[in-house]
Amino acid sequence: MPFDTTYHIAPTDKTTIVTYKVSGGKDIDIYLDKDELPPGIDSFPNVDELLRTIPLPDIEQPKKEEHYIPGPGMVIAFIAIFIFVLFRIKRNFETEEEGTRDNFVQSLSVKSSNKKQSAYITYYGDELNFSDKELTNVLTKRFPYFNSLSQIQKARFLERLHHFIASKIFKIHDKAAYKEMPILISAAAVQLTFGLKKYLLPNFDFIHVYPQEFMRVNESICFLEGNVSGHSVNLSWKHFLQGYANPVNGQNVGLHEFAHALYYQTFVVEENVDHSFRDTFDDFSNHGNKVFNQEAQPGSDLYSDYALKNFQEFWAESTEIFFEKPAAMKAAYPQLYDAMQSLLNQDPFNRIASVIT
Ligand SMILES: [Zn+2]
Repeated sequence: MPFDTTYHIAPTDKTTIVTYKVSGGKDIDIYLDKDELPPGIDSFPNVDELLRTIPLPDIEQPKKEEHYIPGPGMVIAFIAIFIFVLFRIKRNFETEEEGTRDNFVQSLSVKSSNKKQSAYITYYGDELNFSDKELTNVLTKRFPYFNSLSQIQKARFLERLHHFIASKIFKIHDKAAYKEMPILISAAAVQLTFGLKKYLLPNFDFIHVYPQEFMRVNESICFLEGNVSGHSVNLSWKHFLQGYANPVNGQNVGLHEFAHALYYQTFVVEENVDHSFRDTFDDFSNHGNKVFNQEAQPGSDLYSDYALKNFQEFWAESTEIFFEKPAAMKAAYPQLYDAMQSLLNQDPFNRIASVIT
């Protein structure tokens, strides 16, 4: 078996190494510095020159199936799909657990359309016909805002809730649907608009409910807890419930999305407009812009970074803070609090929910 001494000669660009083999002796690799030559060799072509003259190695064009290197777009898509699949698997486990763990989830006994094949269960709000007692039971258990109302206000709240539910179509993107979904989600809208005359947000016919984060694939791929698009308000049920499970942390995706919807109904669709809301929004914007700039400075952290993305997000998050951290908002930005109070005609700091009759 022949033995070789292999000299590795570095070219100037250091990207390739030329090897020079001397037969005999013992197998050995010697790495030479630039301009250093193997012993017994007086001249060696300039390595860079040599590299250029060496015919390209006989490498087969890689077969795409075997050596295909995905571009960044494909990598992102693969990761997104992988995460999506994980979410689906996790979601299935969680919803199953939730259904057995707690009586709070009670299946709706309302007929659903296309039960077997459809990717979602549809409930037509005008067919739900919840009784006052059913609504009150759910609200008392899960909706702190309702408990803070007077008896007269509770009656008014229920009346509005009936109307709101009846005006919407609920699409539940899961195998099971619960009556808490239409009731509590509609209650968030009624809470936000309780001081306004117009509260039905008729542009938004559809409420889509996802078990948890859902994926948006247009524009860019991302996971959402909620959003408003076209004629739909879309919500992650898990995050919606978290919003009301902790009613004092300033995070409530239900209020957040309906704030977007209310703005859209008023200033984009411009139909079924609550005139008081429309006419006082400027005042909120004036104070809000100052706070928006101030919150961008270090040391101000009532709002999340996300709220400072643009003024729409600032508005939506303002409603969350107004209802859930009214004392903090009033202390940090009293004029903004007053503007919100006039705009929504409610005063959560003093636990006063105005009722428009
Ligand atoms: Zn938002």
